[in-house]
Amino acid sequence: MKIPIQKGCAYCLISAALLSCTTMPSVKPQAAAKAKNIIMIIGDGMGPQQVGLLLSYARQAQRGVIVNRTTSLDRMMEQGRLGISMTYTGDTLVTDSAASATQLATGKFACAEMLGLDKDGNPQENIIEKARRLGKSTGLVSDTRITHATPAAFAAHQTHRSQENSIPEDLLATGADVMFSGGLSYWLPEQAGDKNSELHQQLVRLTDNSVGIKSSRKDAKNLLTVAQQKGYMLAFNKVQLDQATGKTLGLFAESGMANGIVETQNRGDARHVQPTLKEMSVQALEILDRNEQGFFLMIESGQIDWAAHRNDTGLLLHEMLRFNDTLNAVLDWAENRQDTLIIVTADHETGGFGFSYSGVNIPKPYSLPGAAFADGTLFQPNFNFGNPEVLDKIYAQQLSYHDIFSLFDKLPKDQQTPLKLTELVNRYTEFKITEAQSVKILATEANPFYRAGHISLGEKTVPKIEVNGAFFVYQKENRENLLAQAVAVSQQVVWATGTHTSTPVFVFVKGEEQAMRPFAKILHPTRLGQLMIDALR
Ligand code: MG
Ligand code: ZN
Repeated sequence: MKIPIQKGCAYCLISAALLSCTTMPSVKPQAAAKAKNIIMIIGDGMGPQQVGLLLSYARQAQRGVIVNRTTSLDRMMEQGRLGISMTYTGDTLVTDSAASATQLATGKFACAEMLGLDKDGNPQENIIEKARRLGKSTGLVSDTRITHATPAAFAAHQTHRSQENSIPEDLLATGADVMFSGGLSYWLPEQAGDKNSELHQQLVRLTDNSVGIKSSRKDAKNLLTVAQQKGYMLAFNKVQLDQATGKTLGLFAESGMANGIVETQNRGDARHVQPTLKEMSVQALEILDRNEQGFFLMIESGQIDWAAHRNDTGLLLHEMLRFNDTLNAVLDWAENRQDTLIIVTADHETGGFGFSYSGVNIPKPYSLPGAAFADGTLFQPNFNFGNPEVLDKIYAQQLSYHDIFSLFDKLPKDQQTPLKLTELVNRYTEFKITEAQSVKILATEANPFYRAGHISLGEKTVPKIEVNGAFFVYQKENRENLLAQAVAVSQQVVWATGTHTSTPVFVFVKGEEQAMRPFAKILHPTRLGQLMIDALR
């Protein structure tokens, strides 16, 4: 309820008098600390639990790949500050990425799934538009696709995140100098998909055959041409990215970019065609830093969320390693600079992930050398608190659950059996499943053999499985969620949901002391966004 303020009321007059006589002269209003450059890194779905997976792996994996067991977040905290942020929207407990990124980008409350609008539906200026007014350069980098909710919320104004065919025009109107991500198909006219068309052949040559040429549009608009008319150079692979020196639109995948496991495998291969998130970020920094007025850059490690929706722990670890690699590169770039504020946060947590102790496979009693056990008493906890050896096994996953099921779905229909799924899972992951478990995993509504409450699997017919109903909303991902449940005990992992939770997220900040201080609080994305907007000089 709002209390109307009456002009000239006694309380106001007294307060004004007190302020003018006492408070004002003694306390100088503190000028908002400013930064020439601001880099915001968003781990989509990167709640404290996801950060915890990275830290557990860094600290406890026996064959861990993180040098000196020191993550980029450890480096942030050497001189940085830590805040916490709630994530709720203008009218709901739980958020999605569009509302959360809108709140970060505008400093205003939004409703779920909106882009660049306040909770009443009014378009609001975002930080990219503000930075451009101040003469700064601006950039958006994401390992998802540039029209996806997080990057789009920083530059578009749409009533719903699904309007991905309208978002490219918004992105071009806002005009960030650098846009690097996937999602080429949303920029190409419908006819581009026709392999026999001259346009298709032209696009194959333009992209150097690096990206699949398909269209997600239902019109004849070629937004690549519009981008060129607006002065953008185009890039479609790592070589073209490395050559970019100015305003550049880089679209490196037909839709989403490669996942974290593929990126780990590519990282060591010098000939990889699709750039990594780190490579896109470093090139963006190089381009944006040419502006003496400074810049704003948003980098999204966006597939942390995708892995967590699918409850795919191995993929999640590789997504966190991709995030870590990228943040390390940003910190290297910013080393010894006093003019740059780096903010690392998440839009929300996804999956309700965690390692958990169980009553299964309780370790046998064992002896300990300490004085309290000198009489030969054996040490025996009541439960299985988890062997850190699972961390190396989680890392060793060779294919994402999504890619495993893609292989399965490409098999001839009569070979899509529980036995075949068992073979695939056991070949590409370290957590083995049985044929009986595969029967349950395949018994979902998404199974092509589903009919009237029953599933035919080879000769067997089994009742269909409801995947915990309400909180597993993506039917296509249900098999992946069920696979996660099948390996939960051996991974020592639990997943609470297939969607997002309201868990507060971390805010890591690094920069000049005065600029960092306001962030070390319990925040909300609107406050965090406003602080960031105010810090633009
Ligand atoms: Mg996102
Ligand atoms: Zn999500």
